[in-house]
Amino acid sequence: ERAREAMARLVVDVPDFPSPGVVFKDVTPLLADHEALTAGVAALAEAGRDDDGATTVDAVVGMEARGFLLAAPVALALGASLVPVRKAGKLPRATHAVSYSLEYGEATLEIHTDALAPGSRVLLVDDVLATGGTLRATRELVEACGAEVAAVAMLMELTFLPGREALGEVPLTCLTSV
Ligand code: 5GP
Repeated sequence: ERAREAMARLVVDVPDFPSPGVVFKDVTPLLADHEALTAGVAALAEAGRDDDGATTVDAVVGMEARGFLLAAPVALALGASLVPVRKAGKLPRATHAVSYSLEYGEATLEIHTDALAPGSRVLLVDDVLATGGTLRATRELVEACGAEVAAVAMLMELTFLPGREALGEVPLTCLTSV
């Protein structure tokens, strides 16, 4: 619990970023703190383990861009493979693509079609859960590969937004919430 409070203190509010009226949660001070990052990665990895500590997932998917920074050490901790979900046009081979609407306009996320074996179990990792649009699109990409989202782990949840609803029955671990 104290570790979570320390973590929450290391996420800094930045008013009016990236646009007026938005308070952006900046996680870079947490990434810069060795103890907090170690504890954070360990806690995120718990979402991919059973009660005996055995790994329950085959792959960890990280969403561009801050999700990459967390998904990689989580995948190493779990002995699972690491798979990036990227913004449109970044992945070099054949992809599945899912578009979703943002407050202004649209965004598209992609995954390599062969990134996940059919039937594999996946842990999704990102820094912040806001509206849930990224999460919903990533889940569709995982399912387009024939794989299954077994669990989701985030550093922080913005509870004044309905992000959690994107998940339905899938277990969600958020280390801190505001
Ligand atoms: P959503 O799709 O849930 O609205 O937004 C989540 C995505 O946008 C995540 O990939 C997350 O990194 C990014 N995001 C949205 N709001 C914030 C924020 O306040 N702080 C950070 N660090 N990322 C955010």
